[in-house]
Amino acid sequence: KLARLPYRKSLDDFDFSFQPSLDERFVRELATMTFVQRNENLILLGPPGVGKTHLAIAMAIEAIAKGLSVYFVSLTHLVEDLRKSYEENRLDKRLRVYIRPKVLVIDEVGYLPLDSLAANLFFQVVGARYERGSILLTSNKSFGEWGELLGDPILATAVLDRLLHHSHVLNIRGQSYRLREKLTSGVYG
Ligand code: ADP
Ligand code: MG
Repeated sequence: KLARLPYRKSLDDFDFSFQPSLDERFVRELATMTFVQRNENLILLGPPGVGKTHLAIAMAIEAIAKGLSVYFVSLTHLVEDLRKSYEENRLDKRLRVYIRPKVLVIDEVGYLPLDSLAANLFFQVVGARYERGSILLTSNKSFGEWGELLGDPILATAVLDRLLHHSHVLNIRGQSYRLREKLTSGVYG
């Protein structure tokens, strides 16, 4: 299918007991996809390894099961793809790939800073989807750090304004699932 999920992990594969900062009932309510029917966004925030991508994939699988179109992309891939299209004078056509799906998953916002063209292309995608389709976004950065991330505090405010107006934010504050054995066996302690 067109979703291009990096791997398959469902909501039932997610161990909520490991992540007590997450409200399982609220996550399961989101998984009914009524927020997508309302064109609202879902933002998953937290440090590496807490399950942001896992939950984004799980939501994508729920959306597909409901017959909704989904496209999954990392922010780095999205902006590099659009940069290429921009340089080849076919940006408008390529933008449609990211505007058409009912759900666009933008993974890994924050790991790499954006130059001004990249930040602008990200803004175009968020702006074009505003009140028209859902964005499901994961980030290791708090919103206050987006000015630095986008290299432009005014543009960051404009992006966040559209992204957060109709949105749900899940802040995951727990420990990395990847490091759980190492943490409990004391390697990191
Ligand atoms: P993040 O995107 O927040 O950096 P991931 O979603 O990629 O983290 O999670 C890292 C790995 O740990 C993945 O294999 C994911 O399936 C697994 N994982 C994370 N949290 C949980 C959890 N609470 N229950 C089960 N597996 C989890
Ligand atoms: Mg991730």
